Amino acid sequence: MKDYMFNEKMERMDRRKLREIQLERLKRSVHVSYENIPYYRRKMKDVGVKPEDIKTLDDIRKLPFMEKKDLRKNYPFGLLAVPVEDVVELHASSGTTGKPTTVFYTLNDLDVWGEVMARCLAMSGLTKKDIFQNPIPYGLFTGAFGFHYGARKIGALIVPSSGGETERQITLMRDYGTTFMSGVISYALHLAKTAINMGIDPSKDLKVRAGLFGAETFTEGLRKRMNDLWDMDAHNVYGLSEMCGPGVSTDCDLHDGLHLWEDHFYLECIDPQTGEPVEPEEKGELVISTLTKEAMPILRYRTKDLAIVYDVKECDCGRTHVKHSTIIGRTDDMIIVSGTNIFPSQIEEALMRHQKGGVNYRIIVDKNGFLDVMTVEVESLKALPEDEKRKLAGYYEKEIKNITGFRPRVKIVDPGTIKQEGIKAKRVLDLRKDRLGDM
Ligand SMILES: [Zn+2]
Repeated sequence: MKDYMFNEKMERMDRRKLREIQLERLKRSVHVSYENIPYYRRKMKDVGVKPEDIKTLDDIRKLPFMEKKDLRKNYPFGLLAVPVEDVVELHASSGTTGKPTTVFYTLNDLDVWGEVMARCLAMSGLTKKDIFQNPIPYGLFTGAFGFHYGARKIGALIVPSSGGETERQITLMRDYGTTFMSGVISYALHLAKTAINMGIDPSKDLKVRAGLFGAETFTEGLRKRMNDLWDMDAHNVYGLSEMCGPGVSTDCDLHDGLHLWEDHFYLECIDPQTGEPVEPEEKGELVISTLTKEAMPILRYRTKDLAIVYDVKECDCGRTHVKHSTIIGRTDDMIIVSGTNIFPSQIEEALMRHQKGGVNYRIIVDKNGFLDVMTVEVESLKALPEDEKRKLAGYYEKEIKNITGFRPRVKIVDPGTIKQEGIKAKRVLDLRKDRLGDM
């Protein structure tokens, strides 16, 4: 399917004009945040900055950074810029302290989310004629809804199949003649494998020929694998709930960087140590501000995602919006397992809830076929009989699921079993990279 522009006027806009729009919107967003959100007023007063000090786009650097912990501290309604009655939807992600980070949308915010997501989907080839299957769990997480709102703007026929029930997903694809799909790429690979086990060849017997995938490390190897199995052109979408959810950026048909929608988001790339901007084409942490968000404006949010911002004035596709690389890594120890964000500190929190477990543990992430599997090895305080080990493991599996939303396999081992190399404990062993080619 071919890349096309959902909003040609905006996607091709002259960069000088685009920057004028950015400045005007940034000024308004800073002003509204200062006037209506005590958190921003306090933080700006702390560094001696007033909204009228923002005269150029570079002046954004005068503003303090914002982090995830600021969202948690102001949970749930502390960062709202509008009365609750003007908010029409919320989404939330799990948190390390039991407090989720919650984001809010006005009707207009949902419209903008649909618009940016529609641009991403159009860039991946989705048209009004398509049958679009959305096998992402519908719930508090942003993922499924972002795709849904974008596809609705385009006018595709949406099959909201939600997550799970892999064989049923294949049956729906075959019965409805699905042509476009979404989700995380490992699940799409798992779907292909399931189809083959059902005697269905996805590249011949199914009609899916394009897809847009997010929330995972996206490599050229994976894109090729998708092409081999599905005869599909796979695109990568980036986003985070603090901005809207998926829809912040996507790669065009050149597959050489993701276009970020600069009329709605302002992008900076910083050295995570110093907080200073890195040179163009140098790896750094993405810092993003919302320019049009009404319910919950976000200024200078440290994403902790590492990437390269490209110094290209205009892409061969005709779009003028800035491009960044796929996400190369994280500045913290977050791991992504089957699209779920997991921090080792969340595992520690679960382990602390039972007195028989020790503090020494190791997280092993691997692939079973194309699916991510996470095993947590935990040393018990003293050696336990087998049945007690199983009971304790079951307890931890439930607790970790409660905190992270993902159920791992827990293995209780005797004290002293987990050997740590060096002084600093290496908590996460990620074996997935070596397994990409497996079936
Ligand atoms: Zn392009």
